[in-house]
Amino acid sequence: MVGARNETPRRVSLLGATGSVGQSTLDLIARQPDAFDVIALTAHRDVAGLAAAARQFSPEVVAIADAACYGELSAALAGSGVRVLAGPEGVVEAAATPADWVMAAIVGAAGLAPTLAAVRQGATVALANKECLVCAGTIMTDAVAAHGATLLPVDSEHNAIFQVFDQSQPDAVERLILTASGGPFRTASLAEMAAKTPAQAVAHPNWSMGAKISVDSATMMNKGLEIIEAHHLFNMPEARIDVVVHPESVIHSMVAYVDGSVLAQMGTPDMRTPIAHTLAWPARMAAPSPRLDLVAVGQLRFEAPDPLRFPCLELARAALRDGQAATVALNAANEVAVAAFLAERIGFCDIAEVGAAVLAEVKGWNCASVDHILEIDGWARGRAEAVAAAQPARRTVTSAAD
Ligand code: NAD
Ligand code: MG
Repeated sequence: MVGARNETPRRVSLLGATGSVGQSTLDLIARQPDAFDVIALTAHRDVAGLAAAARQFSPEVVAIADAACYGELSAALAGSGVRVLAGPEGVVEAAATPADWVMAAIVGAAGLAPTLAAVRQGATVALANKECLVCAGTIMTDAVAAHGATLLPVDSEHNAIFQVFDQSQPDAVERLILTASGGPFRTASLAEMAAKTPAQAVAHPNWSMGAKISVDSATMMNKGLEIIEAHHLFNMPEARIDVVVHPESVIHSMVAYVDGSVLAQMGTPDMRTPIAHTLAWPARMAAPSPRLDLVAVGQLRFEAPDPLRFPCLELARAALRDGQAATVALNAANEVAVAAFLAERIGFCDIAEVGAAVLAEVKGWNCASVDHILEIDGWARGRAEAVAAAQPARRTVTSAAD
């Protein structure tokens, strides 16, 4: 058990320490301070958040991705003895600092290079950053094998599957069944969805998360990205990965076996459970997540996702069938579109339109290296900005459509 006396503390680093997953991870670490030695912490530009975490956990090194924040962070940590790095290269250097376990919780494709650096040092990498696998699935899994690293899924669905997937007989697995809450607009009409505001989109009914993934949950692009993530993590063809809407978010996902058995992992929707599972793996550690009370829940419901209201699901499936150029482009276009929606430059339903327009242009493109990924990612961001800018007629953020 983690935290047992006389055990060497586990050296842990957190990429994206100031975010929702990063803070939940620090919450767990703070409850068993003797079990963990914090080595590196990184953030984008939240100087106050990173400095506070550094003061509390005394890492060897911190890195702030926005180089303009270097002076402010250095001043905030003056006299602490913590080494301060800055810029995207600083984040990669922090990720490469020797550690046993690294939480990869940067949001978006920006997490790719640091996560690869953590993999290349042969660490156990707890992967929350699903965009990494979406952009560079086989490059990531090949690097894990080549460097003797271990990849543990943090995303609640994939962590659930990992917990009930019989690794000793993968051929006995028939299907993976990802559950989806359906997000805040599960029952909204298309006309209602077109008029939804950023504040409504980030108000997830079950999970408390960062803004980008919350919008992805509302469009169900999150589930689409998770199909791609599951494909790479569990080596499962797209056609054998199902999605079922389950509004209670009690069953976090399931594995169906050839004998008809379906195994599920359940719990309350609190990310500290899957994070704790990876933090202590292969042991278990205590987590303070609210306990599941099935009698209080009463009923578990299941629905098929509606392809008309949630077109992002099929976009992601199409991208996965098409290949890595398509998944890179769709991911980049989606990041741009979500940012444009959060800035009230496009409407909610435009997010899928931007993704579809960019995806249509990359059919059959080759993408076999990190350089290709960066090139296609940059190109797709530019195209997505142009498509988003051409959507003024759809801008509907202030009034209800009906
Ligand atoms: P968040 O927005 O709350 O936090 C993101 C973190 O990444 C912050 O620490 C931020 O400083 C850092 N960051 C942002 N841009 C960066 C950049 N350009 N360079 C370096 N660092 C940068 O996001 P989150 O909700 O914690 O999600 C993090 C990742 O985990 C995402 O990929 C998300 O899809 C995945 N995930 C999150 C949850 C959840 O419950 N929040 C669940 C499953 C998976
Ligand atoms: Mg998830």
